[in-house]
Amino acid sequence: MGLKKYDIVDVFSENKLLALTYQEKSYEENKAFVDDSFDIVLNNEYKQYISPILYEALMSLIFKTSIKHFCDDIMPENGMAIDVTGKNYRCFRFWGKDLTDKEIDFHNAKESIDLCKNCEFKGMCMECTANKIDGYKTKLRTAISSIICDKQKLFEYIIERIVLLSKDQNKLKCLVNNFPNFIQYA
Ligand code: SF4
Repeated sequence: MGLKKYDIVDVFSENKLLALTYQEKSYEENKAFVDDSFDIVLNNEYKQYISPILYEALMSLIFKTSIKHFCDDIMPENGMAIDVTGKNYRCFRFWGKDLTDKEIDFHNAKESIDLCKNCEFKGMCMECTANKIDGYKTKLRTAISSIICDKQKLFEYIIERIVLLSKDQNKLKCLVNNFPNFIQYA
């Protein structure tokens, strides 16, 4: 009898113990995480994980990057993910999924959501489009329903903190010089 390997995907459960909750932090929890992350960068504890929202803000402010789509990596000109059969996808997270380019582009475009289209932070905002398509990220669902997006408030808070921090030029230099140690490549 042969042994087969099965991957089970897209399973949703009512069981709270099995629910994906790591991306469901409240505004206050995210703010506290941003505060902790400032300390982590200032102390150069680069083995620690920092708030993705602080990461996005510092990438944009320090390197003057502007993120055009929620995920620029899945634009055809930027990369591809080939599965074991040789089939080409725009991200490994799309392997085995029947998604058209049009669907992916719609979910990846900030212009598809009024709140994002007019957002002053859209150049620094990155989101995982595969998560968005999978639908388990409420942050974007909140944004779509035009309630205030928590990320906007958090970006504002980060900028306020940087302005305060800049009163001490040594701390500001420390933030800018240490941050490259936290850059991760997927
Ligand atoms: S509204 Fe929120 S999700 Fe949309 S671009 Fe702005 S910060 Fe990002």
